[in-house]
Amino acid sequence: MITVYVGAFINPKSFSKVDFINHGMVSVDDQTGRINSVQQFESAEALQTAITTLSTDHKLVKLSPEQFLTPGFIDMHTHAPQYRNLGLGLDYTLLEWLQKVTFPEERSYARQPHESPSEHNARVAHIYGHMVRHYLRYGTTTCCYFGGLHAEANRVLVQQVVQLGQRALIGKTCMDCNSPSDYVESTADSVQATREFVEYVKKCDASLEIPGRVLPVVTPRFALTCSRDSMEKLAEIAISTDVHIQTHMSENLDEIQFSKELFPECHNYASIYSSVGLLTRKTFLAHCVHLNEAQRALLSNSGTAVSHCPTSNFALNSGVADLRALAAAGIPVGLGSDVSGGYGLSILDAMRQAIIASKTLHFSDQKSKPLTVSEAFFLATRGGAEALSIDVGSFEEGNFFDALLVDMTNCPSIRHQHETLEQSLHRFVFLGDDRWIRTVFVNGTALL
Ligand SMILES: [Zn+2]
Repeated sequence: MITVYVGAFINPKSFSKVDFINHGMVSVDDQTGRINSVQQFESAEALQTAITTLSTDHKLVKLSPEQFLTPGFIDMHTHAPQYRNLGLGLDYTLLEWLQKVTFPEERSYARQPHESPSEHNARVAHIYGHMVRHYLRYGTTTCCYFGGLHAEANRVLVQQVVQLGQRALIGKTCMDCNSPSDYVESTADSVQATREFVEYVKKCDASLEIPGRVLPVVTPRFALTCSRDSMEKLAEIAISTDVHIQTHMSENLDEIQFSKELFPECHNYASIYSSVGLLTRKTFLAHCVHLNEAQRALLSNSGTAVSHCPTSNFALNSGVADLRALAAAGIPVGLGSDVSGGYGLSILDAMRQAIIASKTLHFSDQKSKPLTVSEAFFLATRGGAEALSIDVGSFEEGNFFDALLVDMTNCPSIRHQHETLEQSLHRFVFLGDDRWIRTVFVNGTALL
């Protein structure tokens, strides 16, 4: 069966170009979940004529004048076992926040002495199910999750994503040094558990009706809590199994100072990861707030991407990443919510904060141009997809139909009589929330 969506849609083409289609038609093959064709017409009449030529076995979905389609949002960086801390602990800076707020919460995902395995699974499934539904409601169709250290809880996360239909990249977080004594693992355990987790996720994905939706990610937490030996072995796993790598880099000045003490043989933070083989075409690094040109060149030459997390960077007093410098160096960039360093789970929040972050740079350097709404929208959709090399993020033939049906009915203002689709996007980015998202599609299936 082919489903044909008829009406307005917004299609990111590049960092500097977004197409606003008033009279469009997107055809989706329900079996493969992929887009069959994308057409645009000069007028409502021309679109109407095209509709009359459609075969009768096509299912037609007509959008109302208040509605439009956008690609689904891509969250390139978040932490599943920090979800319950959303909005908490944000008077701290990074290293204190990790010790006092974050590690204690992540530790709670271990099975407790009073719990049976099934009670533990049910507890974790309740939290992770709530979280995945919450992300979907806010339009995140693809989410890159850091799990925790505990294998069973990480498997429950995979199961929840599989059941609820989200597209996701999921990693088992690794920490083998400089960590609390009750939230750390040996190098051997860290490496072996990663091997097993990659295999487990690949097996779960292979059993899906449309495989390729749930992918494993090799996930060293960051250079401060991972030994050289473990990072080298994790890089080998990622390369031999052809999977993504995610980690953090250059978020906070104290963190950078500590990395210099731990790896005095390396010129900078990026060269630590480069020297252990962690910078690949499938690597994406969260933050990269404090980079120099040499580090940007290392990322660019290795094909490494960056997850820009402005909400978290403001909340933990980390600083502001220079997005334009990253883009100018040819580094692919997308957005991340970084829950719970970030208090906003929605990528709409990340877009707003990315725009504000770029304006703060502009205040101190007039040559640094603030981010436009279209550019922020690109980062949230196609930018993230290109950074992850996945077939989503825009309405192009062959892409999976991961999309949002946006409804302006809840706009808390009075719309102008001849408001343009571009203005509607601006309203959505600055005023939007979950109430504006009528339907969320992944692989062509309506999930909400
Ligand atoms: Zn993070």
